[in-house]
Formats: sequence, C-alpha cells, structure tokens
Amino acid sequence: MKRITEMLAAGTTFSFEFFPPRDDREQRLLTQAIRDLAPLRPSFVSVTYRGGAASRHRTTAVVEDLLRTTSLVPMAHLTCVAHTRFELGEIMGGFRALGCENLLALGGDPLPEGQSKHELAYASELVRLGRRLGFPSIGVAAHPAGHPRSPDLASDRRYLAAKLELADFAITQFFFELDEYLRLRDDVAERGVRKPILAGIMPITSLASVQRMAELSGYRVPDAVVARVTAGGEGHDAIRERGIELAAELCAALLEHGVPGLHFYTLNFSRATREVYAKLGMVPAS
Ligand code: FAD
Repeated sequence: MKRITEMLAAGTTFSFEFFPPRDDREQRLLTQAIRDLAPLRPSFVSVTYRGGAASRHRTTAVVEDLLRTTSLVPMAHLTCVAHTRFELGEIMGGFRALGCENLLALGGDPLPEGQSKHELAYASELVRLGRRLGFPSIGVAAHPAGHPRSPDLASDRRYLAAKLELADFAITQFFFELDEYLRLRDDVAERGVRKPILAGIMPITSLASVQRMAELSGYRVPDAVVARVTAGGEGHDAIRERGIELAAELCAALLEHGVPGLHFYTLNFSRATREVYAKLGMVPAS
C-alpha cells in the first residue's frame, strides 16, 4: 500500500517523522535513525518542510532517497508560506513524479521579512490546490490546544473541521494527556467531520527542550506532566526514563480509545521511539 488513506482504511497506522538534514552531521544522524527505525516497519514516514524555500530541495531529496533506497512509504510536508502558487504546484508535481502519493498540507509559520509569499494564506488552500493537481492522499495539521494565531479555540476548531473536510486525515501537534486528544476529536466530530485524526507523539527526553518546542507552537506542557517527569529528580536520565514511560502510557490509552494512528516525532533519533515500542510490547527491549 502506498497511500495513507488505504492504510487507515485497513487499520491503525504507526508512523515516524523526520526532518531534512542541513549538513553532513545531520545527514549521518538521519541515515542512522532511518536504519534503526526501518525494522519497526512503520506504515509510513514523513519528511518535514523545514524553514523557507531551501526546503524545496532538501525535502525532495530525502523523499527521493527514501523511495530509491528503502521500502518505506514517504509523506512529504509542504507549507504555503515560502512559495508562490505556481511554485507550490511545481513542487507537488515533483513529489508525484517521484512516486510520492502522500502530502501533509500546512500553512507554515511566518518567515523572516521578505521571504513569505502570501499567495496562499491557509493550509486549506493548499489542500484544494493538491486536489486539483490530483494528489490522492492529503493530510493536515491539528492543534489540540488551538493554534497560537487563533483568536480563540472555537474559531480554530471551526477552521480545522472545514480543512479536514477537504483533506483525508489530520495529524496532531504533540500533547501529553489523553483528554487533550479526546476533546479535539469530539469537537471536530460535533461539527460533523469524522475523518481520521492521528495522534502526534513526542516522548520527553529533555523537559527543557520539549517545553521550548511546546511554547513555539502555543502549547504549555501540563503541570501534572512536569510533576510526573520530574518526580524522580531533575537529572537527565531520571526525566528521560519517566518521559518514555509517560509516552508509552499515552500511546496505550490512545490505542484503547480507538486512535486511528500514532505518529512519532523522532527529531531524527531512534532510541526514544524504540523504547516506547518496547514498552508497548511491539518489539523486544534492546
Ligand atoms: P492553518 O490551517 O493554515 O491555520 C493557521 C491559522 O489560521 C490557525 O489559527 C487557523 O485557525 C487559522 N485559519 C485557518 N483557516 C482560516 C481561514 N479560512 N480564515 C481565517 N483563519 C483561518 N511547519 C513547517 O514549517 N514545516 C513542517 O513540515 C511542519 N510540519 C508540521 C506537522 C504537524 C503534524 C503539525 C501539527 C505542524 C507542523 N508544522 C510544520 C507547523 C505548522 O506549519 C504551523 O503550526 C503553522 O503556524 C500553521 O500551520 P497549519 O497548517 O496548522 O495552519
């Protein structure tokens, strides 16, 4: 199966997110992470669109490499912000020409002065463009705590439901408590949209860096989660151990509540994902 839509129709998906490398050191980390995670046989892997226009070549190169040298099914991310409508069409055409059937259509964060194109303002417009160009399997982003540029949660949910109606599935920003996911799913369902919403999983291996990433996406790591991961002390190993435990418990609870897919933010490392898999009994602990 090459399309995420078909995978979701067949059962629960397990997927990994990577970012395209900027230099040789990052390339080595990515190559190693892919090598270590491929044996877990993910349903698909996704490649982010990192930063501005330079990602056109970087993301395309990783997608091409995955298709040429592995049996993994890639999903390319693409953001509106860095390109004109014409360029976005060209980039999508390029992904399709490589044999990539899956796209994550994103608005993208504002770029430094002069680099934002402003031709397509929202992810929903990119979904429409992708459909017109015949992209068969399109996902979008969902933000359990609401998007930071939204005036309020209700309007964000309204736009998310409308966007998801056009797309095939959504993947959430990371979160740490089951209720955050269930509230999002219920809110979207209340608006009459029942497309699959995959849960984004970020095992906490460093509290400070997760809090920084959370802040950037307008999310605050819940106090109860901070208390739980620091209960054994503030040392790196103690936090890491509890962070992995917490991620495994969240995954198990989500699976129990019928989540259609778990999408792991790997940050181009493999260890945390493999440890969560082991705790879920999906691979032997190594
Ligand atoms: P959009 O759906 O475009 O929404 C942005 C804001 O506009 C929201 O507040 C929304 O409520 C509002 N809105 C939507 N439609 C309308 C409308 N018609 N009228 C008025 N307001 C509207 N970023 C990257 O740069 N590269 C990546 O690869 C990347 N991958 C991601 C993967 C996932 C799973 C997630 C959750 C996020 C990812 N991001 C990525 C971050 C994302 O680009 C940012 O969160 C960005 O600020 C918003 O993108 P979006 O697609 O969620 O927003």
